[in-house]
Amino acid sequence: MIKKDQAVCIRTVDYSETSQIVTLFTKDTGKLTAIAKGSKRTKSAFDGPIEILSRGKIVYVGSNKEAMATLTEFQQQLPFRFPSRNLYTLNCSLLAAELLNNLTDDYDPHPLLFEAFIQFLEHLDESEDTLALLILFEFSLLKEIGLIPVFDHCPNCKTRYERRATSGSYYFSSEVNGLICRDCEGSFPDKITVSQSAANALFDLKSLIKADEKTLNEVEKLLIYHFTNITHKKPKMAKYVLQDNS
Ligand SMILES: [Zn+2]
Repeated sequence: MIKKDQAVCIRTVDYSETSQIVTLFTKDTGKLTAIAKGSKRTKSAFDGPIEILSRGKIVYVGSNKEAMATLTEFQQQLPFRFPSRNLYTLNCSLLAAELLNNLTDDYDPHPLLFEAFIQFLEHLDESEDTLALLILFEFSLLKEIGLIPVFDHCPNCKTRYERRATSGSYYFSSEVNGLICRDCEGSFPDKITVSQSAANALFDLKSLIKADEKTLNEVEKLLIYHFTNITHKKPKMAKYVLQDNS
């Protein structure tokens, strides 16, 4: 069966001298892996070798989990400009692609997440708020896959938080998927402490765009800890995104 869709390439692997295997995040079908025969030849139906983060209209054949699809067309749009402009921005977008690959299932459609990913890449192209945009995308991803952490109350004792942190007595635990209070933290050995400014950013995610670099780095570290716990492996691109490499 021939299918048409819109897609962003989130992973490529060389398959032979001339062909690639690509993982595509598509609007209607979600993630899928396809072979692009002859894609590395100068004249192909793919406008040249397919690069990670390239996007456009695709045509493919075969669409089930058992057999790999065959990509027959990829009309690549103009690439995002940021890779040539800024390595950090490129690394942040590669981390987002890696997380999409790790946290979504094949043939599980997430059209809203597809839109959020395109918007994230477009905003990166025109804004300096790289890390804040990445964090907001990561929260959209967690929301779409049903794993958004609880930030408005303690998931253990259910105590509601004031919307404004008055001190730094908050802890984040992946196990309970949320911000645990001072009274409960003793019961959760696996947790990280959250500073007052990071807690405030988590209470009001919209405020992230105005947060300072230190706060953003702390929130990103928390998210990497969370993604690592969810998928049982640390994202490979994390060390290129976190400022202190820890
Ligand atoms: Zn509690």
